[in-house]
Amino acid sequence: MEISSAALRELPSVDAVLNSVTAATLVERFGRAASTETIRSVLAETRVALKSGSSVVPTVEQVATLALARLADEDRSGLRPLFNLTGTVLHTNLGRAVLAEAAIEAAIEAMREPVALEFDLATGKRGERDDHVRELLCALTGAEDATVVNNNAAAVLLALNTLAGGREAIVSRGELIEIGGAFRMPDIMARAGATLVEVGTTNRTHAKDYTAALSEATGVILKVHTSNYRILGFTSEVGGAELARIAAEANVALMNDLGSGTLVDLSRYGLKKEPTVREAVAQGADVVTFSGDKLLGGPQAGFIVGKRALIEAINRNPMKRALRVDKIRLAAIEATLRLYRDPDRLAERMPTLRLLARPRSEIEDQARRLLPAVGRAVGRAFTVTICQCESQIGSGALPLDTIPSAGLAIASNAGGSALEHLAAALRGLSRPVIGRLDDGALILDLRCLTDEAAFLSVLNTLDRSAPAQSGNGQRSR
Ligand SMILES: *Cc1c(COP(=O)(O)O)cnc(C)c1O
Repeated sequence: MEISSAALRELPSVDAVLNSVTAATLVERFGRAASTETIRSVLAETRVALKSGSSVVPTVEQVATLALARLADEDRSGLRPLFNLTGTVLHTNLGRAVLAEAAIEAAIEAMREPVALEFDLATGKRGERDDHVRELLCALTGAEDATVVNNNAAAVLLALNTLAGGREAIVSRGELIEIGGAFRMPDIMARAGATLVEVGTTNRTHAKDYTAALSEATGVILKVHTSNYRILGFTSEVGGAELARIAAEANVALMNDLGSGTLVDLSRYGLKKEPTVREAVAQGADVVTFSGDKLLGGPQAGFIVGKRALIEAINRNPMKRALRVDKIRLAAIEATLRLYRDPDRLAERMPTLRLLARPRSEIEDQARRLLPAVGRAVGRAFTVTICQCESQIGSGALPLDTIPSAGLAIASNAGGSALEHLAAALRGLSRPVIGRLDDGALILDLRCLTDEAAFLSVLNTLDRSAPAQSGNGQRSR
């Protein structure tokens, strides 16, 4: 008691700390208000510690340094760039596609200056924001008309509400998907005001199942790409072309939700083929929906392409206004789509395709180059080896297909929770490194590592003695 009250009297005042050398830096960087508040809370915590028996009285410089560290830590954005070494190229929790330079530049320009978002430069009259991408989308997909909204979930909601609000929507039981989060087809259907009519069974749906379900109340037949799972074995589904015939005969619309959807044949880049949007349109779908930030490699967006009369109806739906995209994204979308006009140079310009197409041999060479530096950085408590692994596309594209990749496997020599602590320390770096814990090792899949120099320099700051920091945890999809 005696010691603590003496120590309490020695504790510097807020003003004394504010007059220290370090506090000058603090105020310069974070302003007087935040600095004062942080110093005050550091002092308050010290006071509590002193009252409960501690006898260490910090100097003014020590208090200021603590406050500086705290503010610097708080100032780090949770959205700062990180290294995605999870092996999942389009990782939903890590922001999916990384944009092409052309898209980034277009977005920056649109942020900085006014743009003709809904303004026709030729006539000086009001224009439409879709005009900036309509022609490109039609040219790339063969559709008559196109519109763009916030994401594909919004595209599905809006299209369903327009085509089947107050009516019935027929879907195969094998295609009632859940994408993750709250996106479950039956729930979206209910919110869109459509009555779900399930047909067929989980593994087999036939043409006659669809025709038997058609009625006066049918608004749409919906086909959904089972993007994050596959039904194998004794299966049967009705293809897009046949469904288009059934829908046309019954005079109802056929909507095809492609999910990822791609504008190019991926086999060109050594990947398995996903259905392209052009194919879905050519098969006779009246409306096709797909994402902007999955295989397409652009910003978050949802595209709806198809028959003119239906797209016009979708655009007249008041919901469209609530789901539209802003000028920044629209500029990035336009620039991304433009790159597709030159397929020969697409992989060179589009990070998503470039990363997906990287051969294992090239990634293995990189692993060999990085092995010594990673070994030094993690220290003697761990063993680092080159490993072969399998990358995933992610975001529900080609769920069962993996791409041969390579990386570094870090194993703990001591066992216990050392590996979790290392993973946490890597997540706590100024540019976090996110790997994948797999079978007793921390795997760093190097497929998505483009900036080796930046990786090496942040690795050098890894403090092996520090207890694990609480960084941004990695959540599963
Ligand atoms: C991913 C996906 C969606 C949702 O798209 P977002 O762009 O994530 O909103 C909808 N349907 C299917 C089939 C999907 O794969």
